[in-house]
Amino acid sequence: MTEVKAYGAQDKEADLKEMTIERRDTLPTDVKIKITYCGVCHSDIHTVRSDWGPSMYPVVPGHEIVGEVIEVGDEVSKFKKGDLVGVGCLVDSCQECSSCESDLEQFCLNGATWTYNSKDKHTDGHTFGGYSQEVVVDQNFVLNIPKNLDTKAVAPLLCAGITTFSPLHHWGVKEGMKVGVVGLGGLGHMGLKFSHAMGAETVMITTSEGKAEDARRLGADDVLISKDKDAMKAHKGSFDFILNTVPVSHDINPYLELLAIDGTMCMVGAIEPLPDVHGGNLISGRKSVAGSLIGGIKETQEMLDFCGEHNIVSDIEMIDMSSINEAYERVQNNDVKYRFVIDMESLS
Ligand code: NAP
Ligand code: ZN
Repeated sequence: MTEVKAYGAQDKEADLKEMTIERRDTLPTDVKIKITYCGVCHSDIHTVRSDWGPSMYPVVPGHEIVGEVIEVGDEVSKFKKGDLVGVGCLVDSCQECSSCESDLEQFCLNGATWTYNSKDKHTDGHTFGGYSQEVVVDQNFVLNIPKNLDTKAVAPLLCAGITTFSPLHHWGVKEGMKVGVVGLGGLGHMGLKFSHAMGAETVMITTSEGKAEDARRLGADDVLISKDKDAMKAHKGSFDFILNTVPVSHDINPYLELLAIDGTMCMVGAIEPLPDVHGGNLISGRKSVAGSLIGGIKETQEMLDFCGEHNIVSDIEMIDMSSINEAYERVQNNDVKYRFVIDMESLS
């Protein structure tokens, strides 16, 4: 075991504070990574606050990890010391079930191991995330980072990137389609960039009038203010696909009305009960509501390679580790453009 510095919360009301955690010794198929940057996802906050049921404390969040390989196990073939690598939301899965065999480790039938707040088969405890100096991960869950991209701004791709790329890819977004992205935050801004790069006519659907200019800069062809009833009416029945990133439960009926015949709205934000869906909004127009959870390891690598080819990274604001509690406040107050990234050097 190696002791490393980390930042975490001791209970759901507590601020995050510096603490010491243990990382396992490098096993034969493990890669030890010195973490250089870690993104701040809204899911980190949900987990710290036990929004999705009781978390395992202390919670050390962070699943948008970029770093340098500093040690490899004897059987590691995919990475070597000095490589620039990433780790996202997944650090292990059974590798045997039908989901794992279909490159959908996030849906592992025996339970995937999440980067934090997951039972850890290597210790008696639970997993700790990227708000820390080092992490040890099986090579099958480590990603290659394209060398042409700004490393700091790559970190958010490991969660916000794959969570938006995967559904756009799965539902075949391409030129000739009209796509809406609901919510311009960490996920939403990546959704705009990907939908635009895939060639679709892309519309930002936002509650914040003040974000219109940014939305256009990020790839939106048009901006729809969801509180503007007339504007919503003008777009009624016109979207082939809507990606909904709103982080809380909300009435989805106004968005369903925007879908064209055979249109789909994919939920990635609100992992909680949603208020009643009016059956008419689905039946009339053969519409679908769907959901999506991050993406498998193979698809995450495809997303990173796509970003390398298309020069796509996240728009970020760098912070020191000690500013994390303030950053959480700002995310909750809808005041981040569009992802905080922690400079992990500030923890040493
Ligand atoms: P974020 O940066 O806080 O962005 C969320 C955006 O949603 C806000 O910027 C805001 O955009 C809009 N919004 C916020 N509150 C709203 C409300 N009450 N009604 C309508 N719109 C609202 O969050 P994020 O990091 O992008 O994460 C979004 C959600 O996805 C979180 O719940 C997170 O846990 C979840 N998530 C899911 C997955 C997955 O695999 N499915 C992966 C990662 C994260 P406007 O100002 O433009 O309206
Ligand atoms: Zn996340």
